[in-house]
Amino acid sequence: MPVFVNAAGCTRQCRYCTSPDRLPAHCVYSKEELLKMAQIWGPLTIWYDPAGHPEFPEILDPRIAGEADTLMCNEVSLAEAERLPRTLGVLHSYGYHRVHFYLHGNGSTHDAFINRKGAWEAVLKASAAVAEAGWEVGWTVMLDTRNLGEIHGLVEVGRRFDGVIRLALHPHLIGRRTWAYEKVRPTLAQIRELLPDIQDLDPSWTAPLEELTETHWLSRWQAGAPREEFMDPLEPRAWPPQEPIEQLALHILEDRQVYLNPQCAPLIHLGGINEDKAMIQDRLAHLPDPIPALETRAQPRDHGDLLHPSGASVRYKLISEVLFPGPHHLPRENAR
Ligand code: SF4
Repeated sequence: MPVFVNAAGCTRQCRYCTSPDRLPAHCVYSKEELLKMAQIWGPLTIWYDPAGHPEFPEILDPRIAGEADTLMCNEVSLAEAERLPRTLGVLHSYGYHRVHFYLHGNGSTHDAFINRKGAWEAVLKASAAVAEAGWEVGWTVMLDTRNLGEIHGLVEVGRRFDGVIRLALHPHLIGRRTWAYEKVRPTLAQIRELLPDIQDLDPSWTAPLEELTETHWLSRWQAGAPREEFMDPLEPRAWPPQEPIEQLALHILEDRQVYLNPQCAPLIHLGGINEDKAMIQDRLAHLPDPIPALETRAQPRDHGDLLHPSGASVRYKLISEVLFPGPHHLPRENAR
């Protein structure tokens, strides 16, 4: 079960940040507090950037973060980590042997996207240090209309580190800010023009591209495709949730409160971190369905050929349309 904890804030300032509750980088919970939380809630996923926490890497001790082999963190904080080889050695003793970065372009495009000069250089520095230590380097490149022309060059750079490079489409998540990304979501026509060899660059692209368009997903929805095709794996399958608490995504925010992340709706408050788990389970058993009625809104209309990685992404966009109507509600800093 993922139990996300806002423990460290985020060292990036992405122009299209999809996290409505993103914190600036600072320590929210100490290692000692995280250890106590893990004893109650089980292994924690340190959010947002574990490498930005002053007690990194020790906060990734398996007693806190469980058994893991892949370090997910921001590039700048890892590149700036004190005595990086020693840090990697500690992490290796915990079982880590792979690092994974999310990229948004090659060079200045990446810096501009995450709003941080020098971030691209940090990607190169951290990737080189990690490769030197014998770890695997993984890059997931989030495709958008501004970086499509740079992908070939970026893949070339990644291969210098023997990196595993994935090309990905951002899913639409539920939230007011997520509309910002829709402005740069690529279309099928753009991918065909600028990345006609996408399946060679990343063999994990096995589905025919035309089956990833918004129009295609909606036509499957209207044709009565199985509900699971339009759900996130962590979305409760029924309301009130029938799953044991261990199979739901929980999120502990900086307010010391526990929330359910139903994926298909904003976070739902469940109680305090010191409350009895059984009481929280009882509240879960009485939660009403948070999802607005959508069936009438998914009417045939021209959705164009915008690409979405999953049916859940398209359905969640419809939910966002109901909950947070209109891109004109974007926060100012994201409106460019
Ligand atoms: S989208 Fe960017 S700024 Fe927002 S939480 Fe993720 S890494 Fe941080």
